[in-house]
Amino acid sequence: MSELHTFAKYPFLSEASDFISNTGLSIGDLAHEKFLPIVNRGEERLIQAILKSRLSTEWQDDFQELMSFPVAVMLTGLSRDVRLIRRMSLVETKRVYDFLQKESKDFLLDIAQKQFHWKVQRIDQSLTKIPEYLVKWIIDSKPSMSLLNKICLSVPEEFVKSHKDMVSIDLASYLRGIQKGLGTNLKWRLVNRIVNKGYVWVDANELARLLSEDIYRFYSTIFKKVRVATPPSELVSRVRKLTPIMARELKKRVMPLPRDVQPELFPPCMMNLLCSLDKGVDVPHMGRFSLASFLLASGMPQEAVIEKYRHAPDFNVETTSGQVAQIAKVGYVPPNCKTMQNLGLCYQPNEICQKISSPLRYYKYQAWKKRKP
Ligand code: SF4
Repeated sequence: MSELHTFAKYPFLSEASDFISNTGLSIGDLAHEKFLPIVNRGEERLIQAILKSRLSTEWQDDFQELMSFPVAVMLTGLSRDVRLIRRMSLVETKRVYDFLQKESKDFLLDIAQKQFHWKVQRIDQSLTKIPEYLVKWIIDSKPSMSLLNKICLSVPEEFVKSHKDMVSIDLASYLRGIQKGLGTNLKWRLVNRIVNKGYVWVDANELARLLSEDIYRFYSTIFKKVRVATPPSELVSRVRKLTPIMARELKKRVMPLPRDVQPELFPPCMMNLLCSLDKGVDVPHMGRFSLASFLLASGMPQEAVIEKYRHAPDFNVETTSGQVAQIAKVGYVPPNCKTMQNLGLCYQPNEICQKISSPLRYYKYQAWKKRKP
């Protein structure tokens, strides 16, 4: 694969930006007719982002594709539209992520180290000997990751061999990668990972996913920060033409509550609280409060909410009625996902949980998806 093709795929690489600078092209040159295809493709990046939330990943001319990226950055900056900045950061990241998933482990490691300054180790580098009997026990009994982390000062050779496709990355980079959406998925929690001497083991796909979080942050920053002092009129008029399309397509998606309460669309955390109460489990106070505020916010009548607590071991109709009435009167907002996680009430989050920030939004999103033609 040619270097230029790599740059066209990954325009955020510092080598790609050096290449662009070395062409000596100035912003004023873009008005020249021979650069029209570059400006057109730059604008097309925005149109695809706005209308399809996805960028095409095929092109004829690597140079044009690469050079269209800074044009797209300038057009986005000129729009000063935060929704477009967010959308562009997202779709440019998705485009890169599509490519990254097909790359070799070495290529990904190279980007992680050179571009984002992660500390990475190959698994065999982190290997040190441990007693034979412990090796045998680990191989035979396949302990959980968390137990393995606790008992292993180092990782046994056989285990390393069976995980030879993995790499390890420094804890800080890993935590930064999962801090937004990924951390809600149990798979990414540290308790379910091998952590060895400050390094977390990941496979190539996971590495690509974590990298895309840093790439998103990078794109977001450049789209936000770009300022064009004297923009060519050609670019200004293109942004003007896009303004009504942006206003129409990027307006905030309104997700109203469904008219009837639909428990089958509730998030896993609330379903778990409901099931626990139904089985007579003594749910802690914050669990009861979170559930009541969620059910009321979802439109459930107070009497129906009270009924949900009937099998609680200490159920008292007057106390429960008073508490539910108080929550309804004050209009408490149900906790968001972060608070639920801190309270230990988040339960088996699924892929929808990665798109939302609160149990109520989960419910609205599910209802919106169901209504969608
Ligand atoms: S991520 Fe949010 S909605 Fe999903 S289970 Fe956890 S708390 Fe509930």
